[in-house]
Amino acid sequence: MIRLYNTMTRRKEEFVPREAGKAAIYACGPTVYNYFHLGNARMLVVFDMIRRYLTWRGFEVNYVQNFTDIDDKIIARAREEGCATEALAAKYIEAYFADAAALRVQKAAAHPKATENIAEMLDIIRVLMEKGLAYAAEGDVYYAVDRFAGYGKLSGRTPDDMTAGARVDPNPRKRGPMDFALWKKAKAGEPLWPSPWGEGRPGWHIECSAMALKYLGPSFDIHGGGGDLIFPHHENEIAQTEGYLDGKAMARYWMHNAFITVDQEKMSKSEGNFFLVRDLLKKWSGDVVRFYLLGTHYRSPLDFDEEKLVMAAKGLERLKTAWRLAEEAAGRPGETKMDLSETAAAARRAFTEAMDDDFNSAQAYAALFDLARDINTAVAAGDAHPAALREAADTLRELAAVLGLVIAPEEAETAGAEGEKFAALMALIIDIRAAARAQKDWLTADLIRDRLKEAGLVIEDTPQGARWYLAP
Ligand SMILES: [Zn+2]
Repeated sequence: MIRLYNTMTRRKEEFVPREAGKAAIYACGPTVYNYFHLGNARMLVVFDMIRRYLTWRGFEVNYVQNFTDIDDKIIARAREEGCATEALAAKYIEAYFADAAALRVQKAAAHPKATENIAEMLDIIRVLMEKGLAYAAEGDVYYAVDRFAGYGKLSGRTPDDMTAGARVDPNPRKRGPMDFALWKKAKAGEPLWPSPWGEGRPGWHIECSAMALKYLGPSFDIHGGGGDLIFPHHENEIAQTEGYLDGKAMARYWMHNAFITVDQEKMSKSEGNFFLVRDLLKKWSGDVVRFYLLGTHYRSPLDFDEEKLVMAAKGLERLKTAWRLAEEAAGRPGETKMDLSETAAAARRAFTEAMDDDFNSAQAYAALFDLARDINTAVAAGDAHPAALREAADTLRELAAVLGLVIAPEEAETAGAEGEKFAALMALIIDIRAAARAQKDWLTADLIRDRLKEAGLVIEDTPQGARWYLAP
């Protein structure tokens, strides 16, 4: 039984999906106006870990993460860089995928962009207007927060809390202080789309409501994001979506990861105390950064300094070394004195128990380290049976991979069914090139080689035929 902490109910609950055996997850993606920092990376890696774990536990996971590609920040940054907002977004989406891949964050099943779902947003806004939950004012459209009874239920804030602490925007077009924009009237020189209320662009919150609903439907399983999104972003998503759905829940579970802090201060763009993942990757491998991020339970604050990455690198190395020693020793004859096979089974149980308990990856690390220690002991004593050693090594590798940690070199690039498909595809391409060479069609043969090289795949002709490898 998997239990997870639901922000909505403020307790751990058994995970019971909308449809047995399936898990539909939406996580709020980045606003693509610059590179992402370590605080953003925590959210990406945490939800990637959750997704991988649910998959390993047999769920068919449908994971959707959006890109906010139109927003005030994007418009401002595009002006600074002297380019169109589309070009700016495209640049940072590409950078996002590169940095996320380095952290071994798998691509979502869908990465919808806000600008490609404007019609869906307009449809929700129209329905909210018809229901009296929204009103137009001089080309803007606002959500009438006092018309939605559940407002504040996720964050647990009362209307007084919300107006007192919040930076209330003194906008005379709004009827209530907490009302928020669904549609913003275009200002001169800004990107715009037509709407029944005049040309403009969507507010940030409506983007997620529209995309989550389009890709996952009502009452999908898990809505995730960083803890800073609980209020107002997720509260507003709920008001919009549940208003639109006549009160039907937007999501069954709401999950939020805690911040990364630097000297006890939250890491954020506005504080200026952030570290870009892109910069950290110049010095550290993505695997080390990922190992650091998952070494603490996702709901606990995580303090950052470089020393933590040094520790992470050591920890990851310990797992890699244990795996390598076990593999090497498994090739040598020995006899069973240590029951490593029971050790492997115990590690698997401890790992599953930790992860079933609200995805406690920190506790799961303990299971991995226990197994690594037992492997080292057995190898040092030289008395473990090869088959048992191999089983222990395989278990260590498998469990680490559930967390997206790669501890064995050969699985790094071509693991699993995807890797097999990829290898088959490469074999086909090599055959086609060989056929072209046999026909003396050098143009085609060279084109294949050059294009693969551009993609980071090197073809090498040897006396035994061509072979390929990933460019170092
Ligand atoms: Zn969102």
